[in-house]
Amino acid sequence: MSQNLPKFTKINESFPCANCGYPVPPSRSTCRDHCPRCLWSLHVDVNPGDRAANCGGLLKPRSYAAHPKKGWMIHYVCQKCDTRRVNRFLENDAEESDSFESLLQLSGETRG
Ligand SMILES: [Zn+2]
Ligand SMILES: [Zn+2]
Repeated sequence: MSQNLPKFTKINESFPCANCGYPVPPSRSTCRDHCPRCLWSLHVDVNPGDRAANCGGLLKPRSYAAHPKKGWMIHYVCQKCDTRRVNRFLENDAEESDSFESLLQLSGETRG
């Protein structure tokens, strides 16, 4: 039996937030990869949702920016390996939307 996994694998499951412990619910609209409360994430993906990164470090949200098509984007830096990542802020999720208050606590509209 061969397992040809596509590069973009959607693993959508509930997990406890590594930063605040909040039980992060799965999203119905996309693959949720960060906490809706504190917005922290984990460095576990190489391609979105594939869980192929070996790092496992905490991704700290450092700033946000508005994307013309995707809406709010959260910019992360890994606390372990310093990798920069960008995740999409979930504004209108059927299960639970991200905290806009937490987003506004980050520095906004940084470039680069
Ligand atoms: Zn959290
Ligand atoms: Zn990392």
